[in-house]
Amino acid sequence: MIVPDKRRRWLAAAVPGLLMLVLAPLALQRLGHLPETTSATQAAAPPAPLAVSATVPSGDLPHINAARAMQYVREVVAFGPRPIGSEAHKKLEAYLVAHLKGATVEHDGFVASTPDGNFPIHNIIVKFPGAKPGAVVIGTHYDTLMSVKNFVGANDGGSGTGLLLELANQLRSAQRSGYSVWLVWLDGEEAVRQWSDTDSLYGSRHLAEKWQKDGTITQVKAFLLADMIGDADLNIDRDQNSTPWLENLVYEAASRLGYQSHFFARQLAIGDDHIPFAKAGVPVADLIDFDYGYNNVFWHTTQDRLDKLSPKSLEITGDVLLETVRLLDQK
Ligand SMILES: [Zn+2]
Repeated sequence: MIVPDKRRRWLAAAVPGLLMLVLAPLALQRLGHLPETTSATQAAAPPAPLAVSATVPSGDLPHINAARAMQYVREVVAFGPRPIGSEAHKKLEAYLVAHLKGATVEHDGFVASTPDGNFPIHNIIVKFPGAKPGAVVIGTHYDTLMSVKNFVGANDGGSGTGLLLELANQLRSAQRSGYSVWLVWLDGEEAVRQWSDTDSLYGSRHLAEKWQKDGTITQVKAFLLADMIGDADLNIDRDQNSTPWLENLVYEAASRLGYQSHFFARQLAIGDDHIPFAKAGVPVADLIDFDYGYNNVFWHTTQDRLDKLSPKSLEITGDVLLETVRLLDQK
């Protein structure tokens, strides 16, 4: 689950208004790009246009295997609802670990105290070493919402989980000259009862704290999150809780691949697994399409099924993530 942060949403609406007083001509010009109507989650200003080099590099752009990524998503969803503490969740943990065999896998397991009692939480981390000191983390969550019966989370929980398995295939196939890349399947993202600071993000809060305590966090150059990125009608939002320069870099990566039309048409503030890492001082970018069906109508409903997804959306997000890593390597 992901909820727009109401407080920050208010700020997002208010701040551009203040800026307009100062930058009236510029702001009015930009207002021309505003849609006629704005939804409750929509901010008052479009994202700033970014300067992107017109020269696109030739043959070395990343290209994931979209069909294979989609097949992983199908297999993940086939386990059925996968809330923390369930049998299907355990089967999915085993499935993920089996797919990562041969790579350096770390486990961050603990028991979380929730409003409905204690639950085991299990973050799974795989590390692909690079020649450059430091690491780029790509995360997703693999648990599904507990509170909606028969919720299989094809997009919310499934899409990122399958995509990261395909990213693992891509990363294990070549020696990395840039930063190390760590893939993290985070657990317990969803609220057990109702989203709050304490009932949500169980896995990411634990991992960020653990990495702060043991010093690992100082190695993390950036945290990229993929969540709800399988929607066939892919519109990745610009998240105002993410780090602006890293969001800009994601947009540059998307533009280099010709996928920029799928990115940042609107902006809103998102509460998701990137927040604990942002609080720990890590640059973060949440790649999320929070417009799943008209007005996000499929989100957290039994409509979140495989028929709403497209392998092309997994491909777009996967390629953009890998290209963003490459741009980070060059920084
Ligand atoms: Zn969710």
